[in-house]
Amino acid sequence: MHPAPIRPGATLGLLGGGQLGRMFTLAARNLGFRVHALDPGHDCPAGQVADFEVRAHYNDLYAAQALARGVDVMTVEFENIPSATLEAVAELKPMHPSAFVLHTVQHRLREKRFLQGNGFPVTPFREVNTEGDLREAAQALGLPAVLKTASFGYDGKGQQKLGTDSDLAAAHAALGGQTGILEAWVPFELECSVICARGANGETKTWDVAENAHANHILDTTVFPARIPAEVAAEARQMAVDIAKALGVIGMLAVEFFLKEGGRLLVNELAPRPHNSGHATIDACITSQFEQQVRAVCGLPLGDTTLLRPAAMANLLGDLWPEHGEPAWERLLAYPDVKLHLYGKMEPRKGRKMGHLTVMGNSVEEALDKVVLARAALRG
Ligand code: AMP
Repeated sequence: MHPAPIRPGATLGLLGGGQLGRMFTLAARNLGFRVHALDPGHDCPAGQVADFEVRAHYNDLYAAQALARGVDVMTVEFENIPSATLEAVAELKPMHPSAFVLHTVQHRLREKRFLQGNGFPVTPFREVNTEGDLREAAQALGLPAVLKTASFGYDGKGQQKLGTDSDLAAAHAALGGQTGILEAWVPFELECSVICARGANGETKTWDVAENAHANHILDTTVFPARIPAEVAAEARQMAVDIAKALGVIGMLAVEFFLKEGGRLLVNELAPRPHNSGHATIDACITSQFEQQVRAVCGLPLGDTTLLRPAAMANLLGDLWPEHGEPAWERLLAYPDVKLHLYGKMEPRKGRKMGHLTVMGNSVEEALDKVVLARAALRG
């Protein structure tokens, strides 16, 4: 027996109030739900559009439990919530994804071992604690390689590419006593991702594969669908479903892949939430990843993920903001078919995700050309 679905009119609790939470909240409100969001920052992107914003640290069990008491179901927009908070919340209300899912993906070694143990292909890796471990790992995997902190790494934070043995001592020192993971450098043909939704009854849906281009380790553009052979796309979508099932995800799971020459897929990373590479689903698909998160965590039927037309998304980072003032919004809006999404962040720091653009076209090339041109117009 599955629990009764949570219906429109109910209140959803959200841990994390960034842009993913904001777009989740907007989708939830469209469906007639209320949203209460918890975030350490004041006037956070989700809080601006939620019914109720709680300002508290993620390790504040009292605040998280108070939030949970006032809602019907809990979800997250951010995976690095302390386990104690997740467990405290789960004592009171259903929480999707579960504390187990979040715990697994919070740590790169746990995540990779889980994937490997379940037969999914991952980048060759070694655990690194001491400088000796790093030397052995570099010998075993070869250089170049990438040293990453096992916890709290995203958008390339805490990552160092190692080219020669002379880099090892400094790289180990930079870990600052944290556990690290050395990964073999993957000479990939392209990076792509699949977002999968899984309901409480086991129903799953994926969107088309997204093709991702990064700049400075941060996602820069995505085209939808990826320009890869149909059989590779089908394999990637199936693998995302299989991983979501193996992990027991209820809610969303984004799977990032490296595609190697010859069509071989390796799983790079998991994120049990909507993902930056799925932002084009808002404008270009029948059901967005955010609406799907609402449906999945509420135990409602999942929506159709069909892509309406080829699409491209470009991130707007704080770098686009002039030192004083604003980007040239009117030049951007002069492109009548470009969709602008801004997250309500007040401080445009370098590398900070402030918003994104989506464009549809007759082909992904046409959509990508236009979205890049439109973004460049913002510089005035
Ligand atoms: P991650 O935070 O692990 O997703 O890494 C951010 C980006 O760094 C990836 O999307 C890749 O562009 C690059 N990267 C990370 N790990 C590797 C690797 N082992 N080989 C090649 N590129 C990598």
